[in-house]
Amino acid sequence: MRILVTGGAGFIGSHLCERLLAEGNEVICLDNFFTGSKQNIEKLCDDHRFELIRHDITESILLEVDRIYNLACPASPIHYQYNPVKTIKTSVMGTINMLGLAKRVRARILQASTSEVYGDPQVHPQREEYWGNVNPIGIRSCYDEGKRVAETLMMDYHRQNGVDIRIIRIFNTYGPRMAVNDGRVVSNFIVQALKGEDITVYGEGKQTRSFCYVDDLVDGMIRMMECDGFTGPVNLGNSAETTIVDFARWIIRLTGSSSKVVYKELPADDPKQRQPDISLAQEKLDWRPKVDVETGLKKTIDYFSSLIPKGH
Ligand code: NAD
Ligand code: UDP
Repeated sequence: MRILVTGGAGFIGSHLCERLLAEGNEVICLDNFFTGSKQNIEKLCDDHRFELIRHDITESILLEVDRIYNLACPASPIHYQYNPVKTIKTSVMGTINMLGLAKRVRARILQASTSEVYGDPQVHPQREEYWGNVNPIGIRSCYDEGKRVAETLMMDYHRQNGVDIRIIRIFNTYGPRMAVNDGRVVSNFIVQALKGEDITVYGEGKQTRSFCYVDDLVDGMIRMMECDGFTGPVNLGNSAETTIVDFARWIIRLTGSSSKVVYKELPADDPKQRQPDISLAQEKLDWRPKVDVETGLKKTIDYFSSLIPKGH
């Protein structure tokens, strides 16, 4: 198949492109390089089945493809809050453009949605039926509400125009190729630990997250794309939940770092708890994460160690 991956030069997108090529597909990677990088896809450029297009999905484009994975959107709070108007345009206008393309060339399209559609959840763990608790006017809204509208657009193009859609809700995912300056907790803590700098826990660190290794996520994404008769939304994530302060101690232990934990102000609207209920993914996709968090973290630490020599 010929497959378009928007946001293909980003963290998850680059792993997805690599896996789709390995499975024998032609891959078109489209990216505006806001948070993605050429290094992430450097190895793939030698493959004649791989094409790279510098393009912004807020502008329309016509390509002949069979599948569209729509991942383009900054995912880290510091990056999506840098230009919030652009962030929401990417999720709204960008998704309309990709849905228009899917409709015109009759491609199946998968939208990378997020656990953020549940906001600061009052139901725990989160199931797909839960409608969420999102602040529509806060500093995270450009991302959360943008993704919620993207889901709405997917469903309306499906009901109104018969577009073949898939929606996945991705929970916190980590692994090699996260940018050093990404700003999310996994890369921040590992980079700080490897440099011997203070580990910056926001608030008291009692908030929880559940971390999924990128290879598991990519496996779930492809299963969902190729699953017939099921549009989703479906949660994809790892159910192993940890508090952020315990996570900081875990990273210190795994890196053997002398770093100390320091406490910084908690950003506004930071969700207090998050854990996916993945029974729907298990039932429909026969999917569950295989990589335990300690193993995944060791691989991620190895990756960052190759970029940041210890004792820096
Ligand atoms: P990332 O920032 O590494 O990747 C996003 C990619 O999209 C980057 O390459 C960036 O340059 C590109 N991009 C951004 N705006 C664009 C635009 N307007 N036009 C074209 N390209 C654009 O983030 P990631 O972690 O790889 O996330 C990928 C997708 O998965 C995002 O849609 C994100 O919302 C979603 N997601 C990720 C997580 C996670 O934990 N990593 C969790 C939930 C959802
Ligand atoms: N966090 C932290 N220190 C950091 C970066 C993040 O304590 O240096 C916290 C953040 O406040 C949140 C959690 O870690 O409670 C996960 O943050 P991240 O930005 O990775 O993802 P999200 O909040 O979008 O789940």
